[in-house]
Amino acid sequence: MGKPTGFLEKTREMPRKEDKKSRTNHYKEFVADWTPEQTNEQSGRCMNCGIPFCHNGCPLGNIIPEFNDAVYQQNWEDAYEILSSTNNFPEFTGRICPAPCEASCVLGINQPAVTIEQIEKTIIETI
Ligand code: SF4
Repeated sequence: MGKPTGFLEKTREMPRKEDKKSRTNHYKEFVADWTPEQTNEQSGRCMNCGIPFCHNGCPLGNIIPEFNDAVYQQNWEDAYEILSSTNNFPEFTGRICPAPCEASCVLGINQPAVTIEQIEKTIIETI
């Protein structure tokens, strides 16, 4: 488990997006990267649930709590190994997936869900 009190200390935070007017003038990435501190805070919000409903929500069966923890520990090699064991194209799913895992996240019962999709994207962009 990342940080036992992470979900109590930090709320969900997504990276800044480029203004719509300027992003339509190019085909480059328009979602900024997280800072290392944001990555650590957001991955640390995962509660490593005993019954992680995020697994059932993911059509690929991504092993989400384990890669969240590896990211929190900044163990990028392990995070990539865990993610790539079920997902061959995180560059795409980390950007365009509607993220049913986040809709299934237990933390979402009474708080904003863990930012699973962005964590996935951060793994493949970091490794
Ligand atoms: S359901 Fe949410 S809080 Fe629980 S293990 Fe999955 S991502 Fe973490």
